[in-house]
Amino acid sequence: SKVLVTGGNGFIAAHCIATLLRSNYRVRATVRSAEKEKLTRQAISSAGVHNLSQLEFAVVSDPTDFATFSVTLKDCQAVVHLASAFTYDAAPGEFEEKLMIPAVKGTQIVCEAAKLQPTIRRVVIMSSFASVYDASLGLQPGVVYTEKDWCPLTYEDGVNATAVPIAYRASKVVAERAAWDFVRDNEVQYQLMTLCPGMVFGKMIHPISSLSQLNASNQIVWQVLNAGKDGQMPPTKAPVWIDVEDLAETTLRTLTYPGAGHDRFLVTEGSYDTQTIADIVRSRLPDIHRVPVGEPGRRMADTHYSCDSTKAQQQLGMKFRKLENSIVPLARQLYDMEKRN
Ligand code: NDP
Repeated sequence: SKVLVTGGNGFIAAHCIATLLRSNYRVRATVRSAEKEKLTRQAISSAGVHNLSQLEFAVVSDPTDFATFSVTLKDCQAVVHLASAFTYDAAPGEFEEKLMIPAVKGTQIVCEAAKLQPTIRRVVIMSSFASVYDASLGLQPGVVYTEKDWCPLTYEDGVNATAVPIAYRASKVVAERAAWDFVRDNEVQYQLMTLCPGMVFGKMIHPISSLSQLNASNQIVWQVLNAGKDGQMPPTKAPVWIDVEDLAETTLRTLTYPGAGHDRFLVTEGSYDTQTIADIVRSRLPDIHRVPVGEPGRRMADTHYSCDSTKAQQQLGMKFRKLENSIVPLARQLYDMEKRN
C-alpha cells in the first residue's frame, strides 16, 4: 500500500521513508520545492535504499493550503504527518506565523483531507514529548510521564510566549489536540495514531550539506562534540530521548498493529544528559580531544522526571537501542561532515 509522508526532506521523515520503502510500502513524500525533491531522492538513494521506483514526490509549497494538499492523498492508505517547524529561530511577535499556524493548521488539514479520501485507514501525527510534559513545573524528580499526560499550553500561550521553546511546545500540543478534537467531532473512516517522541538523536540520511543546517535535536549532540576539552558542558534540554531509526520503525508499526481504535504512544528509550554523551564519545572515539570532561560518570537521571514508554514497547513490540548505539554513529558522521565543510 501507499503512504503519504509530509515534510519528506526532514531528519525523521527521511528515515520513515527509508524504513517504509525497505518494508515494501510505496511512498509519496511532500516537500516544499522541486530542488528539495531532487536532493531528497539523492539522499534516500545514498542511504542504500534500492527500490526508489516505489518513491514519488508531491511538491506542496504551502502545506496549509487545503485544496492542494487534498489532491496529494489520492490512492494513499495512510498518512504520516511530520512537516512542522522544529526551530528555535523565531522571535516574540513571530510565533503565531512561524510556529502555531503551520503546526495547527497543517495538522487540521491532514485530518480533514484524510476524511475526504476514503482509502485512508490510518493517520499518524508526529507529536512530541513536548505535548506530554509540563515544562513550567521544572525537573520534578520522581514524576513518571506516560501517554496519559498532557502539556497544558494553549494557542494563546504559544502566540504570547516570552521565549521560543515555549512557543514550540505550544505548537506541538495544540496541533495534537486539534487532531484529537477532529476525530471526536467527526465520523472518520481512519484510526488516528499520535506519537510523542523525546529528543530524537541518530545518524542522518536526509539532505543536509553543512553543519549549519543541522536539525534542532542533533544540535544538542554537536554542541557537546564541539565544546572543546576545557569548555563548559552544554546544558541538557528535555532530558528524555529516542533513536531516529527506532522512531521510524515505531512509526511503521503504528500503520499495521491490530489495535481497533485511535491511539497515542509515548516513544522514549529513557533519560539522557550531555555528560553521558560526553562520556560516551570520550570513551568510544579516543582520538577526539575536543569533548568537555565535565564530571565523568555524573548522571542527572535521579534529579528529574522520567518517562514510561512500556505501551509502545509492548503493543508495538519495540525494543529501543541504548544511547551509545545512537550517539557513536552520529558523532562519527558529524566530525566527518565538519572535515568536508
Ligand atoms: P526537521 O527540521 O529535520 O524537518 C522539518 C520538516 O518540516 C521539513 O521537511 C521542513 O521543510 C518542514 N517544515 C518546517 N517548517 C515548516 C512550515 N512552516 N510549514 C510546512 N513545513 C515545514 O525536523 P525533524 O525531522 O526533527 O522533525 C519532524 C517532526 O518531528 C516535527 O513535527 C517535529 O516537531 C517532530 N519532533 C521532532 C523531535 C526531534 O527531536 N527531532 C522530537 C519530537 C517531535 P523545509 O525543509 O521546507 O523547511
